[in-house]
Amino acid sequence: MSQRSYLDYNATAPLRAEVRAAFSEALSLYGNPSSVHAEGRAARAAIEAARVKVANLVGARAEDVIFTSGGTEANALALAAQAGEAWHCYLSAVEHPSVLSGGRFYRETTTQIPATVDGVADLDVLAGELEKHKRGGWRPFVSLMAANNETGAIQPVAEAAHIVHAAGGLLHSDAVQAAGRMPLDIVAIGADMLSLSAHKMGGPKGVGALVLGNGASVEPLIKGGGQERRKRAGTENVAGIVGFGVATELAAADLARAEAIAELRDALEAGALAIAPDAVVLSGRVARLPNTTCIAVPGAKAETLVIGLDLAGVAVSSGSACSSGKVEASHVLSAMGVAPELAQGAIRVSLGFGTGSTDIESFLLAFGELVKRLKQSRKVAA
Ligand code: PLP
Repeated sequence: MSQRSYLDYNATAPLRAEVRAAFSEALSLYGNPSSVHAEGRAARAAIEAARVKVANLVGARAEDVIFTSGGTEANALALAAQAGEAWHCYLSAVEHPSVLSGGRFYRETTTQIPATVDGVADLDVLAGELEKHKRGGWRPFVSLMAANNETGAIQPVAEAAHIVHAAGGLLHSDAVQAAGRMPLDIVAIGADMLSLSAHKMGGPKGVGALVLGNGASVEPLIKGGGQERRKRAGTENVAGIVGFGVATELAAADLARAEAIAELRDALEAGALAIAPDAVVLSGRVARLPNTTCIAVPGAKAETLVIGLDLAGVAVSSGSACSSGKVEASHVLSAMGVAPELAQGAIRVSLGFGTGSTDIESFLLAFGELVKRLKQSRKVAA
């Protein structure tokens, strides 16, 4: 394949070389981590070393890390926590579908918190809702992501934690996109639970974690053996967990490069707006992840842009590309009140550790050609 520019890190990041090496080596640790013999102990030691690394990325204690099969399962585990009892669940309208499903909360005990036009959860509404339910005797469970996967908009998680704790509840944050892209400290945020996923930071797919804070606890979703302190049964994915550990170490070191990544992203945005002055950078007025931009081109179809860019060797996505093959309106953009005609022309470009200035140039070259063609076809149609 000729040289490609991969600009879809929010869908998944390429596997890092160091992760691949550690993962491959860990495949030789064939012992069952629950076995007491030397082979089992070797696998156990590898898992526990990785647990410390994952905990360090978010300032948690190693014993508070529960390994899962990824971000989706971590979210489900968090949302199963208090469902059914005297709890009420509050989800921001811009959450990932794995949170929006509400886990085991019933529809009647789930309330969506709207987002502002900038894609940030409206905490005034949250505070008002909590006040209402307090009178009904409910305890609140709030799930608010650390940063949005489509726009990169950073959410006010620490403020939300403050509000929900004052109301006697718990706060979960899906930090799948934020981890390794902005500093995250579970103690400073005050979160009771944080979800992480290895593959968004150059680790293997199919491994993640739910990290607990403030002495919070969860009920296992998967019951059986006593693995993961009885919070998640099943023989551990040893190689995946080892790879996750290495990925978190590299991601933590990469935080120092956040500004350089933001400069590349800003150059891409400035270039795109020079080509298409009527384009809109969604959530462009609020604090965002340094690697993400969501650009909507009026009159364009995102699929056409994504396919055109792909043919030119540039990988980006439209809307939420976490689940493949869907061409649906983005629930995030509709929650922000973006007009459907504009939302249908929105592409997400997300950068990462492997991105350089040539990738930005390749994007702008291809984008320029596509916008030129779009303008020509408009002229013909007029
Ligand atoms: N949460 C967010 C914000 C995501 O972007 C994704 C991406 O897929 C997930 C959760 C799911 O993570 P995983 O792919 O590890 O299940």
